[in-house]
Amino acid sequence: MIPVQKNQKLTVQIEDLTYEGMGVAKVDRYPLFIENALLGEVVDVHVLKVGKKFGYAKIEAWQQKSPNRVNVEDKRLLQTGIAPLCHMTYDAQLLFKQQQVKNLVYKAGMDIDVLPTHPSLEVSHYRNKAQVPVRMVNQQLQTGFFKKKSHQFVPMTQFEIQDEAIDKALQIIAEIMNQYGVIAYDENEHRGVLRHIVIRRGHTSGEMMVTLVTRKKKLFQGEQIAEKIAEAIPKVVSVMHNWNPDRTNVILGETYTCLYGKDTIQDDMLGHTFHISAPAFYQVNTPQAEWIYQKALDLAELKPTDVTLDAYCGIGTITLSIAPHVKEVYGVEIVEAAIDDAKKNAQLNHIHNAYFEAGKAEEVIKKWQKQGIQPDVVFVDPPRKGLDEQFIQCVQELAPSRVVYISCNPATLIRDIQRFNNYKATTIQPVDMFPQTTHVECVTVLHHL
Ligand code: SAH
Repeated sequence: MIPVQKNQKLTVQIEDLTYEGMGVAKVDRYPLFIENALLGEVVDVHVLKVGKKFGYAKIEAWQQKSPNRVNVEDKRLLQTGIAPLCHMTYDAQLLFKQQQVKNLVYKAGMDIDVLPTHPSLEVSHYRNKAQVPVRMVNQQLQTGFFKKKSHQFVPMTQFEIQDEAIDKALQIIAEIMNQYGVIAYDENEHRGVLRHIVIRRGHTSGEMMVTLVTRKKKLFQGEQIAEKIAEAIPKVVSVMHNWNPDRTNVILGETYTCLYGKDTIQDDMLGHTFHISAPAFYQVNTPQAEWIYQKALDLAELKPTDVTLDAYCGIGTITLSIAPHVKEVYGVEIVEAAIDDAKKNAQLNHIHNAYFEAGKAEEVIKKWQKQGIQPDVVFVDPPRKGLDEQFIQCVQELAPSRVVYISCNPATLIRDIQRFNNYKATTIQPVDMFPQTTHVECVTVLHHL
């Protein structure tokens, strides 16, 4: 029944792209997924894998290339999944992202206008954060990345989408590790010490926090190493140690200790100053995040008498932007360290009408409901899995006139919009926070009917 066979060679035309940016060709309606293929291209392929419902093929030659193709010099950027759209012009990437959202809206049978994707100011070197694995290669600790869907380590020193100051710092740190004879983690044997180097750099402040993630509880000579790092990179104001003893793909463990300097870095967003600690979330593309926050504020049409909620508030970046425009704002966030930051950040910025609570949004909102807090506007900015059913239920009972939704996953955004009864969204604004990758950020407002 399956019209192709493994190792077969054939010529196909790319008819579609998956949300992961893979080309799709159909052979008698049987889909073949093809990497590094763009819409409209005609390609000679070699079938790699044949499954019941779909298969995978690899390009051997192009019969016809897309005008949207960009020549990729460093193929590792595609192979590792660091920049899966880097073979596409930036305009094509923006259209691809808008189309992703349009497809979801269409499939859901909804009547919502999807606006053109708001472009990013920077299309490379925009990330203020890096989480880079290290391994021993030729007896040296080296930075790199893993091949897509594999454990194969590819040594790399330039990561294209990270702040260049971070790329430079990574190499200095790797060199210091080698001077101190630090052995990189070996996942097969579950041996070795250093697993990842994590760096976060304040976009406006330039302050850097380095987190060294180790398998062992103690990093031998950790304080000396940390001092050496700070000496070599003057913008490093904090070196943290994170302990991750488990056999896992998860990068960070639960325990942090400070090896050098402060345990936070400082940065500015929309005119406020924030302290950010290691376990707290902080948007990775600062100018784009500022744009989306401002959009969210505009959509909220806030009044000085409004009571507002900011769910999934992190260190309070959105909360403190809301505060000057309203009577009160309540923020909730699951990571306690982030809530500690948020409280300090409110004080630091002389904001006295923002209240924060650590806990699950779906639980804390119920508590607020019992306390009689009646929001006029609710802001949400959940992780990829979207909103909890109980949370939506509670918001509906509270019946705010608007719900402003910032989303990093359009699939759960669309699902959640459908779950809200008596609310309607008319437009969705996609925003490009992650150029060269398939990620799409969106903002929308739901109005109470
Ligand atoms: N609005 C913030 C953070 C957005 S990221 C900003 O823009 O910086 C999403 C946040 O939701 C993360 O900080 C994460 O820790 C938090 N989170 C995840 N699950 C949660 C839950 N069930 N309840 C509350 N917060 C949660």
